[in-house]
Amino acid sequence: MRNAFPVVSRIVVELTFEDPESAAPAAQSHALYPPARAFFEFPCPYANCDGKFDLGTVAKRAISHSSSHATGTAECSGVRTRDGVTQRACGIRAVYTITAEYDAGPEAPAEPTAAGYLRRGAGTASGTRVKSTMK
Ligand SMILES: [Zn+2]
Repeated sequence: MRNAFPVVSRIVVELTFEDPESAAPAAQSHALYPPARAFFEFPCPYANCDGKFDLGTVAKRAISHSSSHATGTAECSGVRTRDGVTQRACGIRAVYTITAEYDAGPEAPAEPTAAGYLRRGAGTASGTRVKSTMK
């Protein structure tokens, strides 16, 4: 049986936030240890927002490329409830840095891991929510 990321030992996702309207929430750092945590959905840091950042596509790209590094910006598409009543588009931006760390050794990735990742993702279509925080 193949793991989703056979040679990646650890994936570090760092998120900093930019809120055009107010002070941004604190930065986050997530360490993911494949294959158990091959998920890259991070809930919006605002508790009153239903949005999330899905970095699966970029993470997959970072992991399957030799650079093993990806940076970019994602915007929350969720809706935030403010003052208990007003619902507005969240619009917070997450600046992400994804770094894949490999086990030391001469072995390079034998083949792209995208298929394994997708299969894994498709298998989680139950209602269970996967937390990205560890420990
Ligand atoms: Zn949000």
